[in-house]
Amino acid sequence: MPLVVVGSVALDSVVTPTQTRDNVLGGSAIYFSYAASYFTSVRLAGVVGEDWPGEHTALLKAQGIDTAGLQIVRGGKTFRWRGKYLPNMNDRETLDIQLNVMDQFDPVLPETYRRCKFLFLANGSTKLQLKVLDQCQGPSLVVADTMDLWIRTEPNELRELFKRIDGLVLNDSEAKLLTGIDNLVQAGHIVREMGPRFVVIKKGEHGAMFFSQHETYVLPAYPTPDVVDPTGAGDSFAGGMMGYLAERDNFDPKTLKEAMAYGILVASFTVEDFSLDRLKTITREDLDKRMTDYKRMLSF
Ligand code: AMP
Repeated sequence: MPLVVVGSVALDSVVTPTQTRDNVLGGSAIYFSYAASYFTSVRLAGVVGEDWPGEHTALLKAQGIDTAGLQIVRGGKTFRWRGKYLPNMNDRETLDIQLNVMDQFDPVLPETYRRCKFLFLANGSTKLQLKVLDQCQGPSLVVADTMDLWIRTEPNELRELFKRIDGLVLNDSEAKLLTGIDNLVQAGHIVREMGPRFVVIKKGEHGAMFFSQHETYVLPAYPTPDVVDPTGAGDSFAGGMMGYLAERDNFDPKTLKEAMAYGILVASFTVEDFSLDRLKTITREDLDKRMTDYKRMLSF
């Protein structure tokens, strides 16, 4: 089943304790699309400026990602984000953010995108996420991501969004900010009671927690020793998870758990290099091999 994603498309600059990269391919929708493309056909919607290197679009197309929904604004500049990781490689600080063309982005989904059954609203303003949702005709599964910025600046829109989505993916600090509760198990259920049928709390190097009415569980991260750049891990997690659900055309509890595991495994590859550099080198077989190791690791 095809999967539609709308989110940021960026040129990122990343500073880690040992290395720096400037203006590399990034953005929530980019990591998501590439991660999901191992499982299903992906339709990407976003916006870039005239400075967007054509080779990035070529890379996405070569992976089978549909870029018909990627708007190019003449005379505009692409969204830019600059972040710095602390020595623990888990916490980061945003050094600079330039919304550029994202500021005025008015998403208009191509006709083929509107009838999609699987929709992911990647990190971006909640107002924008709602506009996209309005254009989709009866999707079966809608999952959204959000972040502290929108929790602070668009709380009313977020409440509306929660009532219209099936799943929400957010990280641990965002769940605490949203609920005012430090205990993540309580926070996860409180977020679920705000509307989504299931909630996933990402915990970086500690894996991810799942909450539905009948289930609460945690899956650990795959313990890769080669963490080079954690940027995009959360978006790759969501891409792997949604890609697998779309591939299966199913989101029952068992499939959701398998999907969480695939999300964790794609993210474990993403962090092994900057930008999409590690993902570009792997195939579905590599993911399946890591899945075998992961299952072995979890059986006792
Ligand atoms: P992650 O590490 O999974 O949280 O995702 C990092 C990606 O999110 C980077 O590639 C950034 O370009 C993108 N990003 C950072 N801030 C924002 C924002 N305010 N809105 C949308 N995307 C963002």
